[in-house]
Amino acid sequence: MEIKLKTILLTFDVEEFDLPIEFGKDISEDEQFEISKNGVEEVLELLNKNNIKATFFVSAKFSEKYPELIREISEDHEIGLHCLEHKDDYSKMGHDEAYEKIKTGKEIIERIIDKKIIGFRSPRLQQISYEILNKIGIIYDSSLNPTYIPGRYNNFFSPRKVFSKNDIKIIPISVSPILRLPIFWLAFRNFPLFYSKYITNRNKDFVCLVFHSWEFINIENMDLSRLIKRNTGKKLKKKLQKYIHYYKKEKFTTISSYLMIS
Ligand SMILES: [Zn+2]
Repeated sequence: MEIKLKTILLTFDVEEFDLPIEFGKDISEDEQFEISKNGVEEVLELLNKNNIKATFFVSAKFSEKYPELIREISEDHEIGLHCLEHKDDYSKMGHDEAYEKIKTGKEIIERIIDKKIIGFRSPRLQQISYEILNKIGIIYDSSLNPTYIPGRYNNFFSPRKVFSKNDIKIIPISVSPILRLPIFWLAFRNFPLFYSKYITNRNKDFVCLVFHSWEFINIENMDLSRLIKRNTGKKLKKKLQKYIHYYKKEKFTTISSYLMIS
């Protein structure tokens, strides 16, 4: 099969691992931080070994806990804003409160890395006002998953390509053309590798893949649904290594570099 695809954007969400709480399970704050931090180290090792660049969307809370690690990521990769705290639920906040949280999060991380942040991805891919993002100097948003997954995403008719809205560039998470088959973290881990390669190759301009740093730690013995914990840790690292190896390393870049040239 001839591969027309030009660019692969690997992205990693780095946050306090609060997903068990979303499912009503207990996890201490120390453990939430520890799992995500150890995961970042696995991801960095993988990227550096392959000499490729990626984009990390980080929470300010995590960044304050591990400023050195965030600076280390920032030396080779792009840092984007994920949130102030991962539990932030913008649907329960007024406009001003959401604005304050996102703005504060951005300022905290920018102070740590001593660079401007231009990208945003919201926690759990919540919809957020582009007006707010615009006001705090965000240039692109990567929170749109243009697929349909019952009870989670209802974006079947949203664009798959980069588009602009309220002066924000939207870079959607990738799906296949027509059927909109997803390729985000759950799909990449739970479906065989050839599926992800197939969906990737059906795209021409770019693919944007989403992972979390915590997925690179084996959480299979945690009391969580099989879909969420399956193939985490070394299994995912090996799978992503195979995926990276399949493509030319020149195809991998950060979202900001991609948007500047496209
Ligand atoms: Zn997240």
